[in-house]
Amino acid sequence: MVQLTDAKLLRDKAYIDGAWAGADSGKSFAVTNPADGKELAQVPDMGAAETRRAIEAADRALPAWRAKTAKERANILRKWYELIMAAQEDLAKLMTAEQGKPLAEARGEVAYGASFIEWFAEEGKRIYGDVIPSHGADKRILVIKQPIGVVAAITPWNFPNAMITRKVAPALAAGCTAVIKPGEDTPLSALALAELAERAGIPAGVFNIVTTSNAKEVGGEMTSNPIVRKLSFTGSTGVGKLLMEQCAGTVKKVSLELGGNAPFIVFDDADLDAAVAGAMMSKYRNAGQTCVCANRILVQASVYDAFAAKLADAVRKMKVGSGFEEGVTTGPLINEKGIAKVERLVQEAVSKGAKVEIGGKRHAAGSNFYEPTILTNVSKDMELFSEEIFGPVAPLFKFDTEDEAIAMANDTQYGLAAYFYARDIGRIWRVSEALEYGILGINEGIISTEVAPFGGIKESGIGREGSKYGVDDFTEIKYMCLGGI
Ligand code: ADP
Repeated sequence: MVQLTDAKLLRDKAYIDGAWAGADSGKSFAVTNPADGKELAQVPDMGAAETRRAIEAADRALPAWRAKTAKERANILRKWYELIMAAQEDLAKLMTAEQGKPLAEARGEVAYGASFIEWFAEEGKRIYGDVIPSHGADKRILVIKQPIGVVAAITPWNFPNAMITRKVAPALAAGCTAVIKPGEDTPLSALALAELAERAGIPAGVFNIVTTSNAKEVGGEMTSNPIVRKLSFTGSTGVGKLLMEQCAGTVKKVSLELGGNAPFIVFDDADLDAAVAGAMMSKYRNAGQTCVCANRILVQASVYDAFAAKLADAVRKMKVGSGFEEGVTTGPLINEKGIAKVERLVQEAVSKGAKVEIGGKRHAAGSNFYEPTILTNVSKDMELFSEEIFGPVAPLFKFDTEDEAIAMANDTQYGLAAYFYARDIGRIWRVSEALEYGILGINEGIISTEVAPFGGIKESGIGREGSKYGVDDFTEIKYMCLGGI
């Protein structure tokens, strides 16, 4: 059991209409620690009926929340931000316990998650309209932006805090209300946010959390209920496509942050030490379980061996273990399904000729742990060229020319993040313009910040989160033609 300074942050009920609620059926499901399989809590296993009630509560809360001034909403959101930062250590512990990431990374995520609340509390004050020069002397054209209404959000387990705040902060700042279904592996971080939201004075019904192990049923209600005007989803491409289809019935606006297959390109003019440092962050953070993790490391032939050797030196220094242990850089993967996939992808690559430089198997620390791995002699016909690995495995592909690297990088249906290391300014422009991705890290391995627009193209998604663009997804444009002047 995880020891918290503020024990009330460990909530084991869902949060609907400002009240802590159990499931109608009385059923619950277990939340476990992926490092040792031990149960942390039981949370309500809700279904369509409870989801409907949460949506109706959000609908009832909407008029009063929308009617507040942006500054009034900002003051409440600011308070929420401050309470989250004050509880950073407890929230980080809760996250490491249910998700597995090293405590230092969990602390970082809590601050990152909170930063969206701080940012959007301010940005909500700047949802400006327009006055457009008119097409007739007796008319004036005005444009206002209004909150879209009730927002449903479905979030994953890999960032149990930030994936919620990234959606809810702009929604609430814009005057929307929200119902969230967190990932079933990590509902405790979500419920702790609800506890702090309540303390911050977010009114009943404005922020609701429905916990469930039956994502299909809850998702079905969220996507079919006509009250919900917008669905914001972060997760796999397959589920995103399904939800988009389901939203068609009531023509909801959708934002989708889906899978990635990030290329990480090292050109021959790169600063190799910087490239190794960037690759370590981009590849191995959160045990490789992020949608912007380098999935395919493409290295120019003339620097391939040197880069592989330097990367191997850095990987050897990594420490695998429970996220609570001092100095651990790599925690467990989230569950058996996650580790089985990594194992399958590595075995398939090895069966086709890949060479394991380091790692390549489960780690002795426990059944969910995988050794940080480097594979060389990999090729495009291996599944890990086209599939998101979501684990601490770095396959190093070799290329000869710039054109070849660009073609390889773009040879995927995904288009979220891409990284490349080069010093030649002409090359930096050429490659930046040619890469079909929503986010580029150029001589940089960490690209997430609340001030920049995060999102993908192609089958990696629709919409942007963070920055001034992140609020657009939660507003509707209304054009008013004022005649008779
Ligand atoms: P991952 O493989 O990273 O868990 P998923 O797309 O399966 O990615 O999960 C992301 C979120 O989507 C989670 O909250 C999960 O419960 C939810 N989810 C999974 N399947 C469905 C579905 N059919 N309908 C609605 N939500 C779903």
